[in-house]
Amino acid sequence: MREIAIGIDLGGTSIKFAFLTREGEIIKQWAIPTPVDSDGRLIIPFIIRSIKENIEESTLLPAQIVAIGMGSPGSVNREKGTVIGAFNLNWIKTVYVKEQMEEAFQIPFILDNDANVAALGEQWLGAGQNDPNVVFLTLGTGVGGGVIVKGELVHGFLDTAGEIGHLKVENEGFTCTCGQVGCLETVASATGIVAVAKKEARGYMDSSVLAKTILDGRVITSKSIFESAKLKDPFAEHVLSIVGRYLGVACANIANVLNPSTIILGGGVSKAGNLLLSYVVPNFERNAFPTIAKRTAIKIATLENDAGVLGAASLAFESADKT
Ligand code: ZN
Repeated sequence: MREIAIGIDLGGTSIKFAFLTREGEIIKQWAIPTPVDSDGRLIIPFIIRSIKENIEESTLLPAQIVAIGMGSPGSVNREKGTVIGAFNLNWIKTVYVKEQMEEAFQIPFILDNDANVAALGEQWLGAGQNDPNVVFLTLGTGVGGGVIVKGELVHGFLDTAGEIGHLKVENEGFTCTCGQVGCLETVASATGIVAVAKKEARGYMDSSVLAKTILDGRVITSKSIFESAKLKDPFAEHVLSIVGRYLGVACANIANVLNPSTIILGGGVSKAGNLLLSYVVPNFERNAFPTIAKRTAIKIATLENDAGVLGAASLAFESADKT
């Protein structure tokens, strides 16, 4: 009888699920919209119901399912299995996730933050190729991260390790959501890249359609900056050379401290693929400790939306083995 773990990736718009084997084979995966109304009180009951329905519809025996893992936004208390301050779920006060899940299923349940769980997925079955020492950066609306050393996530003293988005890359820069100034997130997230573009547009009024678009007060996206760079727009190339320097320096600092074999770039911005790498890698090599500059791989994530459920399932197997 093959052992199965359930991985859950809880997000503000959808909840993704997967049944997984120890080898990482997906037996079944599905998603439901996140019921964020009523202060998010329906979220856990909906998760429980959806899992029960999908177990019934499958050929799995309840005894095959060894544990459940979940990645959540907000501040996660791993020991207690609670979440607080997940604003996109309307979970403002403490939600007792583990308590409700273990009562419903009577098997171990383990919770971690969403970026950590995605990092584990990419390390195991994605661009990390199951290497034990991997760092993951997710470049989305914000910048998140996860650090894996010797095959395990690093959590630190207060469970806040891996906050790569708040690495300082500028002494005087944009103010970050965390209240500090000059964090990586303010210049390398999708919104950060647009902020850099807005700051730099003035000098390119006559040479770039994109710069003119900004100066005319119209909305642009990070995607349009990459698309213009592909067409050799000098302004877009200038913006990405700045962003690439910030990311390259951040990756070099991470590599100098942790010496991972691979740094994986994921999230929406990473869809720019090799174009993004062409700006990041030279800056990484220029700034990293010489012995590791050429030996650390900087790669684009490969699992896209599946990283969360796969990482959550991997966490579940790990917790099942410990109990
Ligand atoms: Zn910050």
